[in-house]
Amino acid sequence: MKHVYVLGDGQLGHMLHQAGEPLGIQVFPVSLYAEPELVSVQQSIITTEIEYLPKTALTYQLVTHNNFINFKLLSFLSDRLTQKQLLNQLNLSTVPWKLLQDNTQWTDIFSAFDALAIVKSRVGGYDGRKQWQIRPGEENTLPFDCYGQCIVEKGIIFDQEISLVGARSVDGSMVFYPITRNLHNNGILLISIVFPEIDNHLQQEAEKILGIILQELNYVGVMAIEFFLIGDQLLINELAPRVHNSGHWTQNGASISQFELHLRAILMLPLPTPIVIAPSIMINLIGIELCELWLADPLVHLHWYNKIIRPRRKVGHLNLCHIDYVRLNYSLQYLSKYLP
Ligand code: ADP
Ligand code: MG
Repeated sequence: MKHVYVLGDGQLGHMLHQAGEPLGIQVFPVSLYAEPELVSVQQSIITTEIEYLPKTALTYQLVTHNNFINFKLLSFLSDRLTQKQLLNQLNLSTVPWKLLQDNTQWTDIFSAFDALAIVKSRVGGYDGRKQWQIRPGEENTLPFDCYGQCIVEKGIIFDQEISLVGARSVDGSMVFYPITRNLHNNGILLISIVFPEIDNHLQQEAEKILGIILQELNYVGVMAIEFFLIGDQLLINELAPRVHNSGHWTQNGASISQFELHLRAILMLPLPTPIVIAPSIMINLIGIELCELWLADPLVHLHWYNKIIRPRRKVGHLNLCHIDYVRLNYSLQYLSKYLP
């Protein structure tokens, strides 16, 4: 029996646990704040569901653990500054950005960034948190400690947002899912759409970019990359060294889910390219109560996280997968009556 500990006990850790069960893999998501004595990791593989690990008694203990996958990479991938430096060193295109050092930079920033700047905390942001859209004159709306602790990006007017989820195994082989088109609202992912037979050129381009990164880092497991698409140019927004919300459709729309794929990669199990079963749509459930009427549509796969409901909090998602676009569209129309 193989044992995997996941640092973090949110929905991603839970879905890794679910994916392990039918394969005979025991996956234990653990809170970062758990007492180290309660976690016995001797023979286990350790992975994470988040990239930014706060210094806790448990993470402190695990720093030296030999089986902590990608441990050395996490600290610089979780810092937007060092992540962007790496991407630029690899000659990969990112959104224009700067380290925000002090308040004398603003005139230059606004003139270079067409007067819309997005300030992002270097660490710990997610779902659009810890980032601020700033226009000239609004600099003093930033938190006082942002200098040195934030990067600033040009506000991009993009045609679409796209992401790619892939995995690399210990022996260096890599597999990828089709690219996903993503709609965000207030910085939170709302919908991911996968129509695999289109976008061949973009698919190849995105795979090339993620492939370079995975290889360069000697990374093991699933990683996601988010892009802004402008015309036919892909600009990298960010990397997520873990399973990713835009890959949730794979639970029902692919022969191997991203959660299973991650476990296979870190446990050195076979890693064939997952086969896409059907065009898929994933809808995030954000800050809303569970509605039983969603289930009246036969295509709906409900994944409910059993979390306390709060505004802006992801509490579940719905997957819809079908070969017939007309049928998919019918389900969307139906659901739209019961979603905000
Ligand atoms: P998070 O870690 O919260 O996902 P992101 O950097 O991906 O942070 O930002 C969340 C969303 O905010 C993006 O998916 C995009 O919709 C929007 N956004 C972020 N950066 C920019 C930018 N430079 N220009 C335009 N929109 C942006
Ligand atoms: Mg993002």
